[in-house]
Amino acid sequence: MVRSSDFSLFIMDKVALITGGATGIGFTIAEVFMRHGCDTIIASRKIEKLQKAAKALEAGTGRKCLTVVMDVRKPQEVIQGVEKMMSEFGKIDILVNNAAGNFLCPASSLSFNAFKTVIEIDTMGTFNVTKAVYDKAMQEKGGVIINISATLHYKGTALQTHAASAKAAIDAMTKVMAVEWGPQGIRINCIAPGPIDNTEGVRRLAGPLKDKVNGVIPLRRMGSREEIGNCALYLASGASSYVTGSVIVTDGGHWLNDPRASSKL
Ligand code: NAP
Repeated sequence: MVRSSDFSLFIMDKVALITGGATGIGFTIAEVFMRHGCDTIIASRKIEKLQKAAKALEAGTGRKCLTVVMDVRKPQEVIQGVEKMMSEFGKIDILVNNAAGNFLCPASSLSFNAFKTVIEIDTMGTFNVTKAVYDKAMQEKGGVIINISATLHYKGTALQTHAASAKAAIDAMTKVMAVEWGPQGIRINCIAPGPIDNTEGVRRLAGPLKDKVNGVIPLRRMGSREEIGNCALYLASGASSYVTGSVIVTDGGHWLNDPRASSKL
């Protein structure tokens, strides 16, 4: 079923929930959405970080930002959080599943618990929030879901067994849900960022190797948080009204590159 609102190029007066929206890429997605007239809800575990971020977002954009404390690993907390959002706004038009945890570790040293924790935050967290938002907000009215994935699992990225496995499952979930929920007016897509500057992800994973990383990216630089925010804006708006079940790689060509061959260019 096609809904007239799907054709809007704007997200004015929509409501977007962004998990992990107090920091990094999630914060900037919230900022880009709010600059385009959307109200937001940012949800994660630490109230101080949420409140500080919401204050900055509201002051910078003039739109409303609700904070909800919830651990995406805990279905009951998620359900209660989504109920609070619905009582405040009466709708959730856009969901961005951005919350995640990561670190570098070889599979040989990865504890059972460490692997489980990353799967619980990234994969199960994405499912928990998506299911609660579907049940309470999108089932009847439709909506847009954007998952934040990665490119780690396209190759055998060393030290990333946990995160690559978690993100591969998110890509799979995206495709299945796009097929199941398309008839209900729900579009669901993924953004797969490459290394994004000025983020916790890059601080932890690339650290002092930043120059080396830039050298193997065809566009010769890391992405910016705004570039991921703009990609999310495209997927959230009617500009992408016929796009569902897709993974939009936003990585400056990073994962495609074979540095051994391109060094001869
Ligand atoms: P970040 O700043 O560390 O953001 C992660 C957010 O998730 C934090 O705000 C954190 O808040 C929240 N979070 C973690 N565990 C949670 C839980 N159990 N429940 C609720 N919220 C939780 O990371 P980032 O680097 O901006 O990355 C954002 C997304 O982009 C992630 O999905 C990441 O995998 C993806 N990505 C990033 C890059 C990159 O270069 N940075 C590359 C590829 C993919 P609390 O700790 O306060 O809960």
